[in-house]
Amino acid sequence: MKDGFVSVIGLGNMGRGMAETLLRNDYKVMGYDLSEEARSQAEKIGVIVAPLAQLLKESKVVVLSLPKAEHVEALVLGANGISELGHDGLIIVDTTTSTAETSRKVYAELKTKGMTFIDAPVSGGPSGAKSGTMTMVVGATEEDFTKIQPFLADLSAVQVNVGECGAGNVVKICNNLLAAAHLITTAEAVALANKAGVSPEKLLSGLNKGSGRSAVSEVNFPRWVLNGAFDSGFTMGLMRKDVGLADALATAENMSLPLSKKVMELWKKSAETLLDQDDFNAIIKMTDADLFEGK
Ligand code: NAD
Repeated sequence: MKDGFVSVIGLGNMGRGMAETLLRNDYKVMGYDLSEEARSQAEKIGVIVAPLAQLLKESKVVVLSLPKAEHVEALVLGANGISELGHDGLIIVDTTTSTAETSRKVYAELKTKGMTFIDAPVSGGPSGAKSGTMTMVVGATEEDFTKIQPFLADLSAVQVNVGECGAGNVVKICNNLLAAAHLITTAEAVALANKAGVSPEKLLSGLNKGSGRSAVSEVNFPRWVLNGAFDSGFTMGLMRKDVGLADALATAENMSLPLSKKVMELWKKSAETLLDQDDFNAIIKMTDADLFEGK
């Protein structure tokens, strides 16, 4: 694939980092974004910014990193979109946290045109995208996965094939529901221990060697919460979207999920006080833990 172009559509926090990783791995990278600011930042790191039609004509693989499922659907199925302008043999790797429904719909449509679509949502944040250390949960047939995996391995550290198209987004939505819950329960545990005379740092030093640990206690609290940094690069708006996707999935599957529903309610309510552009770790301010006031 290194003999032709690969492209990234959506050059935001994640897409720009992925483009950088591909450039470092000797790919020729084209890119496109609706935002002029995103296009010019990408150009500065060596991405060849091109109109969509040219990029689709010249690329062998196109990576999508868009905000939501509706953006993916519009870009693929809309007028002058990928379905219309993409060529036979084109591979689309969708890293957007989207829905299984959208992934399966666009997969079926693109298959009729000889194109391959996989859903490959990611974990690891902008720093993982930039350093190529992300984890991808991939929805693809075994045959498609085997074909695309060498490319995915140049983009990320870990690729797990979790089922056919759509399965990647089911797993990602469940993953983010747990992360959303862990932020709240960990904040409550930190506040409880603090009231009982154990500092947050001392609590985490014990917790992170025990069975109550999680990525939130091991990474988020030391790196973004306790030091007041709140600069992870993942926004409240995007995490509220993911929690909403979990809510919609539970409703579609007729599941009541009583504890998860409480988590979903709290994230929904957070829109009253926390802005879409705020860091997602700020959800800890929604707990009754006065420890976090002023952070
Ligand atoms: P972002 O808002 O920083 O970037 C998205 C980019 O897509 C923007 O630059 C926007 O202008 C562009 N865009 C929107 N519609 C477009 C279109 N039709 N054509 C071209 N460009 C378009 O978001 P992000 O943080 O980079 O996240 C991207 C995806 O990755 C989201 O689905 C998010 O949930 C997921 N994700 C983000 C993180 C993180 O830590 N930021 C981690 C894992 C997964």
